[in-house]
Amino acid sequence: MASTQVKLKPGDTIGILGGGQLGRMLAMAASRLGFKCQVFSPDPDSPAFDVVLHATCAEYADVEALELFANDVDVITYEFENVPAAAAMILAARRPVLPEYKVLGTTQDRLAEKDFVARLGIGVAAYADVSSLDGLRAAITRIGLPAVIKTRRFGYDGKGQAIIREGDDLDRVWADLATKSAILEAFIPFEREISVIVARSADGHVECFDVTENEHGDHILKISRAPAAVSDALAAQARGIAETIANALNYVGVLAVEMFVVPGREGSTSGPLLVNEIAPRVHNSGHWTLDGASVSQFEQHIRAIAGWPLGKPVRHGDVTMTNLIGNDVLGYEQWLTVPGATVHLYGKGAPRPGRKMGHVTQVTPGKK
Ligand code: AMP
Repeated sequence: MASTQVKLKPGDTIGILGGGQLGRMLAMAASRLGFKCQVFSPDPDSPAFDVVLHATCAEYADVEALELFANDVDVITYEFENVPAAAAMILAARRPVLPEYKVLGTTQDRLAEKDFVARLGIGVAAYADVSSLDGLRAAITRIGLPAVIKTRRFGYDGKGQAIIREGDDLDRVWADLATKSAILEAFIPFEREISVIVARSADGHVECFDVTENEHGDHILKISRAPAAVSDALAAQARGIAETIANALNYVGVLAVEMFVVPGREGSTSGPLLVNEIAPRVHNSGHWTLDGASVSQFEQHIRAIAGWPLGKPVRHGDVTMTNLIGNDVLGYEQWLTVPGATVHLYGKGAPRPGRKMGHVTQVTPGKK
């Protein structure tokens, strides 16, 4: 089904695959525009179930549940990029699925993603395909140490990756990774990490949010700030990279591109920016847009997949987004009275270390 055919009207129903906080915030943004949402998730405790009237709690392998879900909705999208190919194919035969499933084929596999970005002439860390312990030794000889080993699939928030330093026991590193399918990347001594949240509509129109600067702890995003403390020229280059990627994927919806700013590369063909990762969905580093911009990343995504015109995002000032991770959430009451703070809690059960429980945005108006 061609993506250009989608043109929803208020009252139509959007199907969302995945029931986490991203699905929850997508459903809330859709609701504000008059849409209904139905969420599909195997987890009965899905935070997105709380904000929709209709939910399908079933496994992605449950063909009958997928068919019934497709029949109930007008368009289908994801908040979760590891949807199995077979499930997406069953759905796509019945309803438009946006962004198109083939995009996930590229972004679900770190090797395919790196090859794709490199083919566009965009800088990435030196990398090598690794499928055995001997292959790991050969890759280290080529790339050097320190380096980062990552599983090709199903990695997130630092899971499925490890830094390898001089003297490390490679047998153990390889055994701990527990896969035969990995990539080795050069360790990048970056100056800062930034991301660009870009929206693209089916007619090829593209809108980027202002470049965001991201601080991680234990590989998990802790704080995002918009705008990033980079020059206008670098910000324009970052937005250009995100736009090139969105166009090359013929993407419909919101996409995040995470990049490293690397000092001393100014003279190289791809400049000081290296792309680390593409997320084919709304992204944690774009949560600041909920309170810090005239249109949020969630609304942009809904507009794109609904066939509606994209908003022209205007930032309301300097914005900081702080994730409430694990027990951080227990301090939510303190945030409620902080001037300019807006508290978002995801309605998840018990806090666990590393679990994203909510976030807070703080806007300082007036500054640009
Ligand atoms: P990823 O899962 O690829 O997004 O990586 C999570 C985080 O690990 C990144 O945001 C960086 O802080 C760090 N990281 C990943 N790859 C590299 C690399 N090649 N060099 C240095 N740090 C990295």
